[in-house]
Amino acid sequence: MENKDRLKIEKVKMPEADPEVRSHSNVEVNSGISKEQAIMEAQRCLNCKNPTCVDGCPVSVNIPKFIKEIEEEKFEDAITTIKQTNLLPAVCGRVCPQEKQCEASCIYTLRMNKPSVAIGYLERFAADYEREQLKLAKAKPAKSNGIKVAVIGSGPAGLTFAGEMATKGCQVTVFEALHKLGGVLRYGIPEFRLPKEIVDYEINTLKDLGVEFRENFIVGKTISFEQLKEEGYKAFFVGSGAGLPNFMNIKGENSIGVMSSNEYLTRVNLMNAGSKESDTPINRGKHVAVIGGGNTAMDSVRTAKRLGAERAMIIYRRSFDEMPARLEEIKHAKEEGIEFLNLNNPVEYIADENGRVKKIVLQKMELSEPDESGRKRPVPIKGSEYEIDVDLVVVSVGVSPNPLIPSEVKELKTSKWGTILTDDNLQTNVEEIYAGGDIVRGGATVILAMGDGRKAANEMYKKLTEK
Ligand code: FAD
Ligand code: SF4
Repeated sequence: MENKDRLKIEKVKMPEADPEVRSHSNVEVNSGISKEQAIMEAQRCLNCKNPTCVDGCPVSVNIPKFIKEIEEEKFEDAITTIKQTNLLPAVCGRVCPQEKQCEASCIYTLRMNKPSVAIGYLERFAADYEREQLKLAKAKPAKSNGIKVAVIGSGPAGLTFAGEMATKGCQVTVFEALHKLGGVLRYGIPEFRLPKEIVDYEINTLKDLGVEFRENFIVGKTISFEQLKEEGYKAFFVGSGAGLPNFMNIKGENSIGVMSSNEYLTRVNLMNAGSKESDTPINRGKHVAVIGGGNTAMDSVRTAKRLGAERAMIIYRRSFDEMPARLEEIKHAKEEGIEFLNLNNPVEYIADENGRVKKIVLQKMELSEPDESGRKRPVPIKGSEYEIDVDLVVVSVGVSPNPLIPSEVKELKTSKWGTILTDDNLQTNVEEIYAGGDIVRGGATVILAMGDGRKAANEMYKKLTEK
């Protein structure tokens, strides 16, 4: 097909579950594109000589190659190409902010002012096709080199590191503090965006490669680094994430019914608190306010809607233009009837006589010059305070690094924000310890965590084998 014909094809639209149905259930919102749609979308790719899309991918997937393979209906080849550098394609195809990464660097976006090739949808298609249709033979463990390495944390950073090291023949054990694996993929991102059977499938692939997992195991509490060294572990990768929620420290924040999004989402996603059979309690608020404008805030407010909230509101101190959540999440939230109280900031929570939150005092904001983050600075408007009724508040104003590992390994250097400091190769000042993902970057993204896991594995392996 000639390029002029490729340019005439319209970008595929992702089929979605009906907003009315999905906002009362856990059905996945994006249903995935069909084989025919995938082939048609793949035909839009110009197979550029200098594929700028790859520069935008933190794990450097060979994007034009896998898209060409989809166009030629070589679906097994397509997934093999992706998996050469991305071990969690069904996850990334669903949750990566492609619009800020590979798709932002696609030639259609950069030079032609046209919608990019739908790289994320195609990645998801290839991964789902493999899982649902191809049912390929299980991966086999590589020949062992006898080197034992330990991973702390089973989020995307730890999982990617583990997979890469297992492929190189190392004996890898992943230690996870929670009773289920996956980090934020399990306890943070809800089922309606990332079904847990997909997380399980991708983790099982790592088990097939020989990776051992030990749940309910807190490194630093269950056992120390020293003890792990005595068990023969030669090196460590810390991917312990940024699971410590931030609060605003305003009056009334410790009222009953004010909680962090971390706690709220963990109760629902990890402990299944939304189901009648679960022993874990959950506050099913009728008037729910979620404070913040990131992905975590969108996930919380949409979860509240699914748990029966009549009014589920986002309270955000800037405007839609500055909102850090993915555009797709904002669109989906609007379709589901979420209210957006932008340019509003909570200044106080008012509780009833039992200490239970019943009102928020909000102050209106206006935007002024951009701050150090490049976004316009919100400035309070004096005298604009007003109250709204609420019975549940979910605070979603960012996270801080998990402090346990730095406090266990005292000599480990950290920044003033508590992130672990590493060199460019992700090695810390303690020779045998590498680190990556949110514990190094602060709250970031799945694909950046995966990129770190991959890089750290390559660098650590080089060091271990040159000895
Ligand atoms: P995590 O995923 O946080 O995993 C760390 C793991 O380490 C946890 O399981 C923890 O229990 C474990 N651990 C900690 N300490 C110990 C210890 N001492 N011993 C053993 N185990 C330990 N990013 C996107 O790209 N797209 C999205 O749509 C998106 N949505 C998000 C929605 C929510 C609700 C949240 C909270 C985040 C979202 N993110 C999203 C961000 C993304 O999930 C994180 O950047 C990513 O998961 C970081 O990966 P990680 O491996 O560094 O850490
Ligand atoms: Fe295809 Fe866009 Fe990458 Fe070019 S930049 S190879 S058109 S996906």
